[in-house]
Amino acid sequence: MSVDFDHETLGQRVVFKSGHAADNLAAEVGRLRASRVMVIATEFESETATKLSTGFDVALHYSDVAPHVPIAKAKAARVIASEYNIDLLVCIGGGSTTGLAKAIAMTTGLPIVAVPTTYAGSEGTNVWGLTANSRKLTGVDNRVLPVTVIYDAELTLSLPVELSVASGLNALAHCVDSMWAPRADPINQAIASEGIRAISVGLEAVVSDPTGLGGRERALYGAYLSAVAFASAGSGMHHKICHVLGGAYGVPHAQTHATVLPHVLAFNAQHAPDAEIRIATALGAASAVDGLARLYSALRAPSALREYGFDEASIPEAARLILSAIPESNPHAVSIDDLERLLRAVWSGRPVEG
Ligand code: NAD
Repeated sequence: MSVDFDHETLGQRVVFKSGHAADNLAAEVGRLRASRVMVIATEFESETATKLSTGFDVALHYSDVAPHVPIAKAKAARVIASEYNIDLLVCIGGGSTTGLAKAIAMTTGLPIVAVPTTYAGSEGTNVWGLTANSRKLTGVDNRVLPVTVIYDAELTLSLPVELSVASGLNALAHCVDSMWAPRADPINQAIASEGIRAISVGLEAVVSDPTGLGGRERALYGAYLSAVAFASAGSGMHHKICHVLGGAYGVPHAQTHATVLPHVLAFNAQHAPDAEIRIATALGAASAVDGLARLYSALRAPSALREYGFDEASIPEAARLILSAIPESNPHAVSIDDLERLLRAVWSGRPVEG
């Protein structure tokens, strides 16, 4: 095999220690010499946010967070950040909360310290996402990459098992899609392989012992690797499908990723033999498709998108919207019929055909 690639590594500080988010966050605010901190967290996470913010002065607690960052919410948050003369954004929560901080940073250049509470991984990427007129817009801008990520697996203990599984499979999808995304290279593929190993082992442990910290730590570590691989490799076929479904039909992010992934893997695997071997090896299975099926069965993972509000009648329109977004790097050409077939299988949850 010849070795020939261009690779960029994003600069970010990562602090990972369970039970220490409050201390580590206060230290980071001090290190960044911030004095006007805006803490962003949903109402649901407000108690956690208050506890984690006791070691520094908070200029503004902000909770108007919504999934997929509606543009109106982003604009309102930017105005208030400017009115309060904010000099640091701290986001505590899942990908929606991180997404709002990114939307503010995008136009203001304010630094972000992210404290994730799910496995979505937005904290490890320079990708922003906004929703306008039922379409999800995404883009890349280094200003939205958090300067520091503070991981504390104790913060994920409250995530119900079902949501932990869906969120972890969202991270796993970052890794799998990184194998054939437009900027896939041996470095991000190696990171993605370790991500698949950590997430799969971590999630199985979370399911068998939801209150244990070991599985949560593995899954969170894997989620970070997944984000790094995804930021570096870019969006492949899987992410393009999920972005259309999330933006146009309002289906929940993590569950959508979880239900789509096996079908994209089955579609691409036989045309991407190197990726297939890497994924199979990371899952400890003879084939990537079988390894993922075994993992899904062990996790009792979400399988049918019809259970999450996706209407079968939307399939032809969704297929058309997706077709133009499929990257040229995809290992196999994709037709409108392929997409309709794939979406029907995703909708019904019927077993994957290789
Ligand atoms: P989310 O942030 O909407 O959270 C899902 C639900 O889980 C919410 O109700 C939230 O309150 C709850 N929750 C969060 N942490 C919890 C905890 N520890 N315990 C109990 N409940 C908790 O969803 P998500 O899946 O984390 O993120 C999805 C969003 O992130 C999408 O908008 C997606 O596009 C974005 N995303 C962006 C990137 C990127 O690189 N830009 C990457 C991944 C995801």
